[in-house]
Amino acid sequence: VESFDVIIVGGGPAGSSCAGRLVAAGARVAVLDREHFPRTKLCAGWITPDVLAALNLDPADYPHRFNSFDHLVFHVKGLTFRPRTVQHSIRRYEFDAHLLKASGARVLNHQVRQVRRVNGHFDIDGAFRSEFVVGAGGTRCPVYKSLFRASAPRSSALQVVAYEQEFAWPWRDPRCHLWFFDHGLPGYAWYVPKADGWLNCGIGALADRLKLRGEDIQQHWKHLVERLAAEKLVTGFDFDPRGYSYYLRPRRAEVRIGNALLAGDAAGLATVDLGEGIGPAVHSGQLAAAAITGGGEYSLDSIHATSLDQVVHGRLFGPLARAAVRWRFPDYSRSGIRGESD
Ligand SMILES: Cc1cc2nc3c(=O)[nH]c(=O)nc-3n(C[C@H](O)[C@H](O)[C@H](O)COP(=O)(O)OP(=O)(O)OC[C@H]3O[C@@H](n4cnc5c(N)ncnc54)[C@H](O)[C@@H]3O)c2cc1C
Repeated sequence: VESFDVIIVGGGPAGSSCAGRLVAAGARVAVLDREHFPRTKLCAGWITPDVLAALNLDPADYPHRFNSFDHLVFHVKGLTFRPRTVQHSIRRYEFDAHLLKASGARVLNHQVRQVRRVNGHFDIDGAFRSEFVVGAGGTRCPVYKSLFRASAPRSSALQVVAYEQEFAWPWRDPRCHLWFFDHGLPGYAWYVPKADGWLNCGIGALADRLKLRGEDIQQHWKHLVERLAAEKLVTGFDFDPRGYSYYLRPRRAEVRIGNALLAGDAAGLATVDLGEGIGPAVHSGQLAAAAITGGGEYSLDSIHATSLDQVVHGRLFGPLARAAVRWRFPDYSRSGIRGESD
């Protein structure tokens, strides 16, 4: 049995951010992941300037595909808005492997099945032992399942189902397009160009609301493919999309039981309006590390629960975005790290 101060289950952005901080503080840390990195993670790969700042990542030093936008294109029921805002895209295949390596943590390939509390420490599958355990294993995190699920079940009303494909494509339109509520979709679809001829197209929606409408995500995927063709964004490509589900942030989340902490998708932290999960994963991973090394409280109150008001600025669209968030998500709009200043 190998022993560590902290075992982190999952080497995505939540796990690697947590690991980086713990390693820097001198803790004996292992990251357990069932996959070998680089690994595929279904995700549009949109990241905000806030993510770069939190990771202290300078795009000039980043050795992989990195693309920047100086505005977004929002399509809402036939209307088009082009708010100016600096946003970025990466490929998760490259980004996650880069962050995990940069964390300096020991990474072990292991599919975690069970986490148990035994005599004041954690036992993982009888093979690993630690004083602290961080659940950063995404939606189906075994730390969540073993230690939290019974007392903190997730609400199905917050489940998002997403469908997407990332592929090499010689895109001509360099802008990032988002289509909201197309054909009644309770969510949005996206076209996110990556550097050097890669593209991610996808669709995400609230699972419960889709079901209520008697629809499924495949139907809406067909609408997206038709739209991409009609607007000559992607034509003649034989799509083979994949699906995944994750959870938006609840009003109150139980993220710590004793020395077990949850971060990122394991805690269900994606923003309630745009389903942005990378920033919340990074912040929660870093806060979990601070709580472990500093012995303090682990609170997620400082992490933004909405995205629109964080990313959309300017004299016209900034107030509109903030008003929309306050109106639609009144319970969430007070918490949050501010993004760029207006
Ligand atoms: C289609 C789609 C598009 C998205 N687009 C965006 C976007 O553009 N921008 C954005 O900010 N957010 C986006 N999100 C959300 C974002 O991808 C997640 O919130 C984010 O990846 C969460 O990071 P994480 O580190 O918590 O989990 P993950 O990145 O999922 O990492 C979890 C890790 O745990 C490992 N693991 C799981 N189970 C086990 C086990 N039993 N044993 C060992 N290891 C295990 C996995 O292999 C994985 O490496 C999107 C999500 C989806 C589904």
